[in-house]
Amino acid sequence: MTAVSGAHKGTNMDSFDICIVGAGIAGASLAAEIGASARVLLIEGEDRPGYHTTGRSAANWHQSYGGAAVQPLTEASGSFLREHGFLSERGALTIARDHDAARLHRFAGEFAALGVRVEVLDRDGLEAWIPGLLPGWTLGALEPDCSDIDVAALHQHYLAAARQGGAQLWTRAHLSAAIDEGDAWRCVLSDGRELRCDTLVNAAGAWADTVAQIAGVRPLCITPLRRTIAQVRPDPVAPADLPLVFDLNQKFYFKPESGRLWLSPQDETPSDPCDAAPEELDVAVAIDRLNGVVDWRIEHVEHRWAGLRSFAPDRLPVYGFDRFHPRFFWCAGQGGFGIQTAPAAAKLAAAMVLGEVWGKVDPAPYSPWRFS
Ligand SMILES: Cc1cc2nc3c(=O)[nH]c(=O)nc-3n(C[C@H](O)[C@H](O)[C@H](O)COP(=O)(O)OP(=O)(O)OC[C@H]3O[C@@H](n4cnc5c(N)ncnc54)[C@H](O)[C@@H]3O)c2cc1C
Repeated sequence: MTAVSGAHKGTNMDSFDICIVGAGIAGASLAAEIGASARVLLIEGEDRPGYHTTGRSAANWHQSYGGAAVQPLTEASGSFLREHGFLSERGALTIARDHDAARLHRFAGEFAALGVRVEVLDRDGLEAWIPGLLPGWTLGALEPDCSDIDVAALHQHYLAAARQGGAQLWTRAHLSAAIDEGDAWRCVLSDGRELRCDTLVNAAGAWADTVAQIAGVRPLCITPLRRTIAQVRPDPVAPADLPLVFDLNQKFYFKPESGRLWLSPQDETPSDPCDAAPEELDVAVAIDRLNGVVDWRIEHVEHRWAGLRSFAPDRLPVYGFDRFHPRFFWCAGQGGFGIQTAPAAAKLAAAMVLGEVWGKVDPAPYSPWRFS
């Protein structure tokens, strides 16, 4: 247990060793890992955790997603997710046209070399997986281990584990100021409540740079990009065993969900941090792109939503203490892979926050120091 700084004693203010800002999957999973080892407070500005990006994901565990430098975190998370029943088999099929054959082979080779199970399919192989596939799509890379994640259950698991470890969760607790008083942070919430902590953890998703600014820490240019998903009713009904169909050029993906289809145009529209809402144009683009892949008819758009995926300039996540502020910890920039990497990322970040070492994944590529 980290010692509580003497500066906290003798005040009426609530005092903690570590205050984590943001109770999405990043903050919740980290709180679960450190809740029993320190006095931890998890603060969430909304009235319930998971309202923002965590509650809006496509729920995929997809080994190649995010690229080779993210794959170690995804891979190291897989066994935990599988053993705890958070994954169900889906498979992913990255498809390409003839002129992209060389890139498709390079993509498959790159991930096979990293130990990912991946099999290159020809047109006949694609047709066996995707009924109604239009001409022109001639090659695919099948990742049979890709799975659906039960995101809500995973998030709840972490919140419960954090609570059992002794961490507190305050909702409607929006950090509006953090003042460095030399040996501790004095944090002010927007309703006027104050607290003290030794270490401030920035797990604020799309607001990561905003929280840094609130604390007087230099932002890292973590940019929120809007991503849209539409739940559509196709005719014919999407087969339940359809894999996640993913475009090599990242213009669409779709997968079945209870007889419906979740469809994304893989949009990346820069946005201010906000309660993201879908644009009709993005839904139309998604359907238009689907019409270029299969001969299915979209009967109805049942539901649509959008969320903000936040990226550092090199699109890798950021885990570590700030270079210029040793009591400010970054847990941000999880882009489009923050759920599938959460178990390993939380262990990595927890070790760093507690001054320990977790040897399974090299933290160097994710250090905030790489930007300064
Ligand atoms: C459409 C879409 C599809 C996706 N699909 C996948 C997928 O298939 N697989 C995958 O792994 N990932 C996916 N992602 C990405 C994944 O959802 C994110 O990487 C992950 O949810 C980020 O979690 P987070 O905890 O960092 O952010 P969030 O869930 O946004 O949590 C941050 C929290 O911080 C709070 N906060 C901010 N500022 C303050 C403040 N000042 N005070 C208090 N609280 C504050 C916010 O209210 C928010 O709840 C997808 C994302 C989107 C949008």
